[in-house]
Amino acid sequence: MLDKVLIANRGEIALRVLRACHALGIKTVAVHSTVDRNLKHVGMADESVCIGPPAGAQSYLHIPAIIAAAEVTDATAIHPGYGFLSENADFAEQVEQSGFIFIGPKADTIRMMGDKVEAIRAMKQAGVPCVPGSGGPLGEDMDENGRIARDIGYPVIIKAAGGGGGRGMRVVRTEAHLHNAITLTKQEAKAAFGNDQVYMEKFLENPRHVEIQVMADGQGNAIHLGERDCSMQRRHQKVVEEAPAPGITPEQRAEIGKVCTDACLRIGYRGAGTFEFLYQDGRFYFIEMNTRIQVEHPVTELITGVDLVREQLLVASGEKLSIRQEDVTITGHAIECRINAEDPDTFMPSPGTVKRFEAAGGPGVRVDTHLYDGYKIPPNYDSMIGKLIVHGQDRETAIARMRIALSEMVLEGIKTNIPLQQRIMNDGGFQAGGQNIHYLEKRIAEQQEKAINLG
Ligand code: ADP
Repeated sequence: MLDKVLIANRGEIALRVLRACHALGIKTVAVHSTVDRNLKHVGMADESVCIGPPAGAQSYLHIPAIIAAAEVTDATAIHPGYGFLSENADFAEQVEQSGFIFIGPKADTIRMMGDKVEAIRAMKQAGVPCVPGSGGPLGEDMDENGRIARDIGYPVIIKAAGGGGGRGMRVVRTEAHLHNAITLTKQEAKAAFGNDQVYMEKFLENPRHVEIQVMADGQGNAIHLGERDCSMQRRHQKVVEEAPAPGITPEQRAEIGKVCTDACLRIGYRGAGTFEFLYQDGRFYFIEMNTRIQVEHPVTELITGVDLVREQLLVASGEKLSIRQEDVTITGHAIECRINAEDPDTFMPSPGTVKRFEAAGGPGVRVDTHLYDGYKIPPNYDSMIGKLIVHGQDRETAIARMRIALSEMVLEGIKTNIPLQQRIMNDGGFQAGGQNIHYLEKRIAEQQEKAINLG
């Protein structure tokens, strides 16, 4: 078993990792920036190290500072959480070269999945269904690019090979706009990701976002833990996630799950991972793989009873997976609402001091947050301050529990998106289930129009 884990992250996920470590008797090291001394997990960790000023680039993204902290505290392993350095192959490599265990896949796997052209190529070879597309980077020959687009059929989407966070994408509906779109996306990709490679895919008009959670030990064993539906998005950011995905049958789940676990075995995948798919007209289309724990992992934990962070720690310590596929069962329904410190109407971030905090409770309610009375949310990081997750015997029960839980949450001193989450839980379309990735933005736009008309 690992002796001491350094947690290279902050906020709710750092606390989540710390709890999993302590439950296994593993000691912890918290690293934090100068504004984060009062983070809840910093006070609970066995040791803590200040790694730099507030700016992410000088603290949570500063590889030498994190590795130095691991050295001075004599840590065994580093858990990257999500965001920050979690999908940085160079970081994973340097961690291992410095003699620590990286809690995640091998650096080469991260590197391959970080290049979407490479990832799609590898997944296609492994038999994973992908969006019809160029199959490789687009060249300079615009006649050839025109032919590729006609073969795929308009509309198409031009995407950056090195893209992430919903940036570096452009939809093209007619041939007249193709040339320009490719040139612009290349320029943007070069500036934002330092890699001007772009590729082309069929643009799916009304897909849902359905993803498969996998766990592998890198020793010949891989399992899937079913799917999550993350179609409730705003600006490509997930707002509500649920599991299982409405309408997905056990047969579909078993089929796409096996495709994913076979792919894991083929590429020697290690640790937790997520295959993200667009789902339209009953078919799955792979778009990318996330090689880390995800924000929305708790919904999977609640329906399967598997502690995913614990499994990450066990796999990293060299143990084989203790769960077989046939042991994974899905019980009931789980929903997660991300709680953001932001204005529920304008979406402007709302950092500041939490004057009063009372968490929701009761059967099937889980609150993952680092907040406490008097905690000061700094303006330097992501506005997500926690997650409210509920479990019920079916989707209807879960929604009912979420509505009550949202109404129980007391958060004074800052603005939060709880009113937006309440509107979503009360929305007929959400209650019906199975909405596509554009649904939430359309509903928000309608409401804003209504408000303007009333105002
Ligand atoms: P990122 O790594 O930037 O998140 P993704 O490839 O995961 O990029 O795509 C982000 C989002 O863009 C998807 O969730 C979906 O909303 C949209 N998108 C990407 N590819 C397509 C496509 N082929 N058709 C329709 N929408 C797409």
